[in-house]
Amino acid sequence: MNDNKLIDLRSDTVTRPSAAMRAAMAAAEVGDDVYGDDPTVNRLQAHAAELFGHEAALFAPSGTQTNLIALLTHCQRGDEYIVGQNAHTYKYEAGGGAVLGSIQPQPIAHQTDGSLALADIERAIKPDDFHFARSRLLALENTFSGRVLQPDYLAAATALAHRRGLATHLDGARICNAAVKLGISLREAVKGFDSVSVCLSKGLGAPVGSLLCGSQPFIKQARRWRKMLGGGMRQAGILAAAGLYALEHNIARLAEDHENAARLARGLSDIAPIKVTAPDTNMVFVDIPEAQCSLLEDALRRKGILAQVDPHMRIVLHLDVSRADVDRTIAAFKDFFAA
Ligand SMILES: *Cc1c(COP(=O)(O)O)cnc(C)c1O
Repeated sequence: MNDNKLIDLRSDTVTRPSAAMRAAMAAAEVGDDVYGDDPTVNRLQAHAAELFGHEAALFAPSGTQTNLIALLTHCQRGDEYIVGQNAHTYKYEAGGGAVLGSIQPQPIAHQTDGSLALADIERAIKPDDFHFARSRLLALENTFSGRVLQPDYLAAATALAHRRGLATHLDGARICNAAVKLGISLREAVKGFDSVSVCLSKGLGAPVGSLLCGSQPFIKQARRWRKMLGGGMRQAGILAAAGLYALEHNIARLAEDHENAARLARGLSDIAPIKVTAPDTNMVFVDIPEAQCSLLEDALRRKGILAQVDPHMRIVLHLDVSRADVDRTIAAFKDFFAA
């Protein structure tokens, strides 16, 4: 490994496909997926459906698109979805549900563990009255800012939604991190959700792609929305091969990222002016004195470490960051704060 390589801690989206993944991509059998003819896309979708315990799955270019497709498929114009104030599907997807679907978000505040309180969900569900948008969907996110939502909570929240006639969607961009952390199967981790969106391009290390899982009729309708949104790709098997490789080889190893996150948190914890939050999975949050943020960012950069330093700094571990990189990062922080 090249000693001068950049250590990129900004996100787990920065991973580059490994040589073995690239070989799988190069060897992929392909066809026109808009005709349903791409054998590798079909294999990926079948594999994902099996893995997550749903009837069917759909491959799309991004998690933003699989989440939007889910909103469009669950909700009609004038419906609403209940969602966390800081959830990706509300805050970080450019308002797609509202802009493209005329679907109203009903955001509610998160608890400190990232969950939405059951009482808050219950209160947000509107009665059937023509003054109100129709409450149609509960959308949750796991992991949320690197935190794992507990299975008991998810069971209670999805049961509440179903009892009140709402559908449930999981933004499981990093659901594999949650399952690995809890030591449970992916099926178990997504139980209770009518649809699940999963990113292949985060810690799983694929260059592109997300999966949407759901029932046969749901995915049939989702395929129409994907086409409308411009997500119908042609010889997409090249990308699907990377996704298959990721699902087959890169799930269990997420535990290494979690160990590295814990190691980093321990290493930074005795540096006086900063405050480290113990990580659940692959993200470490560090409070940095405001006056030192840009100086620290520059100092790290000079040592080949890319990070976005702000007062509530997020550091993300992934398969391109080794344990030695973690130790280099700890040393760089110590040098900076000792100076
Ligand atoms: C990354 C991410 C997505 C989807 O992002 P894309 O970059 O569009 O693939 C959705 N939800 C969460 C929580 C994410 O972190």
